Amino acid sequence: MARAAKEVGTFMGSGEGGLHSTLYPYQDNMIVQVASGRFGVNIDYLERGAAIEIKIGQGAKPGIGGHLTGEKVCKEVSCTRMIPEGSDAISPAPHHDIYSIEDLAQLVRGLKEATEWKKPVFVKIAAVHNAAAIAAGVARTPADAVVIDGFRGGTGAAPKVFRDHVGIPIEAAVASVDKKLRDQGIRNEISIIASGGIRGSPDVAKAIALGADAVYIGTAALVAMGCRVCGNCYRGLCPWGIATQRQDLVDRLDPDAASKQVANLLHAWTLELSELLGAAGINSIESLRGNRDRLRGYMLDENLMQVLDVESVGA
Ligand code: SF4
Repeated sequence: MARAAKEVGTFMGSGEGGLHSTLYPYQDNMIVQVASGRFGVNIDYLERGAAIEIKIGQGAKPGIGGHLTGEKVCKEVSCTRMIPEGSDAISPAPHHDIYSIEDLAQLVRGLKEATEWKKPVFVKIAAVHNAAAIAAGVARTPADAVVIDGFRGGTGAAPKVFRDHVGIPIEAAVASVDKKLRDQGIRNEISIIASGGIRGSPDVAKAIALGADAVYIGTAALVAMGCRVCGNCYRGLCPWGIATQRQDLVDRLDPDAASKQVANLLHAWTLELSELLGAAGINSIESLRGNRDRLRGYMLDENLMQVLDVESVGA
């Protein structure tokens, strides 16, 4: 994944697990994450990232933390997470030093100060019903971007009830955040990154037309590598050698082929986006940002149409 990000000239997120030394050559294309467990976070880690992301929430499981069982904390994981081998890695639901926007602003400022104000800091929140209010708070910190993670964002470790019933679709969240920031006159204070549920180039175009500046992808890149979306990542026995540390399974993945496939996916989406822009009569992706005139709603209910602020097909 890191190789593909470097080849294409984009970025990859480290997740909350720290940064393995084999990823150091790709550090210029790496967004390092600071999550509630603070695993693997030290000054060297922060300085290696091209950007730093504070994870407050995750679309697939808003409001809850994470638990990596001890049996998955092998030697490699223990050195990146900086915890003893075989010990459980628990990420609390909240950051224990963040209970207000002022606390968040202090952490953002602290991370920027530690890296001499050279690294952009992103704040990732889950797409929930009040995401717009939360994002308006984030925009009042020195953060450079708010990442909104929609409910279709995949993770092999989300309890079903949270995955299916708590979050909202990324389109509704991005539209409401963009509107709230514009209403408050602070849209240009912060960038919006849409994540969770970006399954193809039309989803990228829709997210940008609804107000996003950029998108993250996850499952689509895994599928390009060979993932069959079986949902068993948490077991550490991925038969395709992706979400596993077991050497015999890891050996099944050909990193050269996998990185080429991910790079191909991104190149193909870029070409498809150009086609979509051409069809919409637009010549740059910047002109698409927040350009809801180019969207039409089809078979959507009235409330959602209001949130999205788009006209229906035929209007
Ligand atoms: S194929 Fe592997 S990476 Fe994909 S969902 Fe299954 S266990 Fe996870």
